[in-house]
Amino acid sequence: MAGEPQADCLFCKIVAGDVPATLVHETATTVAFRDINPQAPTHVLVIPRAHHRDAASLAAADPQAAADVLRAAGEVAAAEGAEAYRLVFNTGAGAGQTVFHAHVHVLAGRGLEWPPG
Ligand code: AMP
Ligand code: ZN
Repeated sequence: MAGEPQADCLFCKIVAGDVPATLVHETATTVAFRDINPQAPTHVLVIPRAHHRDAASLAAADPQAAADVLRAAGEVAAAEGAEAYRLVFNTGAGAGQTVFHAHVHVLAGRGLEWPPG
């Protein structure tokens, strides 16, 4: 069920502390940790503690939690000293989503091309 921890979800396991991660920011509703395969000098994932399959599903089910994720992403970028940064929500396998627990990538610390690939 949406919002409930999923036994087979990697990011639910990180929220629970069952899989280690380098946490950089936490709130009552969000957790942020460094991506294991960084694509930029700063590459942090911000996730809701509750399980939702993607960003739009999160926003539909819990708009406050979606806002909390965005606010946390901004706080992470500020803490990293990023003057400019990019937030990415890959949604669907065809767009590169590999973990189906909503998350935003916070990318910074290098030139960021536009449009992205
Ligand atoms: P996406 O491809 O948008 O679903 O993003 C999933 C991200 O999770 C990828 O950038 C992976 O590198 C990252 N990732 C996978 N496993 C871990 C892990 N154990 N700890 C931190 N990041 C991870
Ligand atoms: Zn999950």
